[in-house]
Amino acid sequence: MLGLMQSQPLLISSLIDFAERHHGDAEVVSRRVEGDLHRYTYRDVAARSRQVANALDALKLGFSDRVATLAWNGYRHLELYFGVSGSGRVLHTVNPRLHPDQIAWIANHAEDQVMCFDLTFLPIIQAVHAKCTTIKHWIAMCDADRLPADSGIPKLTSYETWVGAQPDTYAWPSFDENSASSMCYTSGTTGNPKAALYSHRSTILHAYAAALPDVMCLSARDSILPVVPMFHVNAWGIPYSAALTGAKLVFPGPALDGKSVYELIEAEKVSYAAGVPTVWQMLLGHMKPDNLRFTTLKRTVIGGSACPPAMITAFNDDYGVEVLHAWGMTEMSPLGTLCTLKNKHLEMTADEKMKIRLKQGRAIYGVDMKIVGDDGQELPWDGKAFGDLYVRGPWIVREYFKGEGGDPLVDGWFPTGDVATIDADGYMQITDRSKDVIKSGGEWISSIDIENIAVAHPAVAMAACIGVPHPKWDERPIVAIVRKPGMDVTREELLAFYQGKTVAKWQVPDDIVFVDAIPLGATGKILKTRLREILKDYKLPAA
Ligand code: ADP
Repeated sequence: MLGLMQSQPLLISSLIDFAERHHGDAEVVSRRVEGDLHRYTYRDVAARSRQVANALDALKLGFSDRVATLAWNGYRHLELYFGVSGSGRVLHTVNPRLHPDQIAWIANHAEDQVMCFDLTFLPIIQAVHAKCTTIKHWIAMCDADRLPADSGIPKLTSYETWVGAQPDTYAWPSFDENSASSMCYTSGTTGNPKAALYSHRSTILHAYAAALPDVMCLSARDSILPVVPMFHVNAWGIPYSAALTGAKLVFPGPALDGKSVYELIEAEKVSYAAGVPTVWQMLLGHMKPDNLRFTTLKRTVIGGSACPPAMITAFNDDYGVEVLHAWGMTEMSPLGTLCTLKNKHLEMTADEKMKIRLKQGRAIYGVDMKIVGDDGQELPWDGKAFGDLYVRGPWIVREYFKGEGGDPLVDGWFPTGDVATIDADGYMQITDRSKDVIKSGGEWISSIDIENIAVAHPAVAMAACIGVPHPKWDERPIVAIVRKPGMDVTREELLAFYQGKTVAKWQVPDDIVFVDAIPLGATGKILKTRLREILKDYKLPAA
């Protein structure tokens, strides 16, 4: 027997409709690329999102056509979030930190038709536009009078000219909630980047879950600062959850340094902020010398990389700010676990509580997880046994865009590439990573790419890239090198060899370590775990 309840599809347009109707005067404040603060309300976001939808219709974009953004966190980006997805197109948020060749590659792979970019990224657009074969429309996210005169980009239009002439009425279409809404590429695994293609349904379910008290605990009384970029897994879903709750949104634009973030938090009475550890390190580094205080900040969600204990202590003890340690992935929309205490933990000593807070947390309703040993058997939840972490749920990837990489699932479960323990209370803790990548400042570096460049040098017999701990960037890459017999090459020559190759500057390794041999497994695969052990006393050279 079927249930007899209504079944409106879960569509992203309903979020902005709701925010407009119920929280129309709640503010959205953005620091712009121009440096000034822009301020308006959800009522304006809704009207301008409808203008975006009309502008896309005017370009004759079809259902599911891709619209790319190369942009910081800001109000125009937010309008595109709702206008593009709401009208049935797919928003492709591109990571500007990638090498321009990688950007061109993913724009072509996604078959983007429109590219909307902040002027900060004009040099990238100038470098790639001729290689992006599917993009027909280039939109600079600026006022008409800021449009560069001789950019070299064909038919470049300003965002304000593009949407400004459009009516702000639009009937959002209704369609299957499983339709694609947005996409994000990840270079988290080997080979070319692969895209997670989110749906309206997965996005809305994730937005509901994210707002729960033991998850991000968002409400109409919050003023939220997503420092985590909107090009990185939809800023962890905050733009959607904020509209769903009516929370004030505060966007930092390009200014992510400690001083700018601190001043924005204070000026806009931010109660809640989200970002990777690197950003908070810069913020705390700015506050400490002058003994600055927060007047409104209550909670901060930290994820993307393991949160260092000193950061939890500093926020909690020195500033009275609760740290919520979170874990997730691009393939998971991204939220998987969040670390909040249970009732029975409240009487514990500070040390015992800290042990829990350092874990990545408990699964959010909607996410199933398990850990599996080398023999494929599920391991016990005893906080000791560690194995490959698998997940499944309605906002977790089933396959990558265009079927890239084949079927990623194992018996319906997605292998995360993280190695973890789970304790009896369900708290998961990452202990290692089985995937071959390094995460620096919250962004991926493919160790394979780094190794491939090194072995292209005539004097290199073998190369193995690993991440080593770094106080600011969490991890930095170094490369262990075995030289070919009788050949010589210096550290400096090899580092110089990375210049001009297809890696972004920040992806170039920090150091080269010459070794006699690199440990290999039975199948000839480099044993990174063993290499990490061998190099455990290695220290990065002072910058
Ligand atoms: P995000 O950075 O938003 O979490 P990515 O897809 O870029 O999404 O990265 C996901 C990976 O980052 C995870 O598989 C894990 O290796 C690492 N990661 C994410 N959060 C944490 C965390 N809290 N602690 C340790 N590693 C984490």
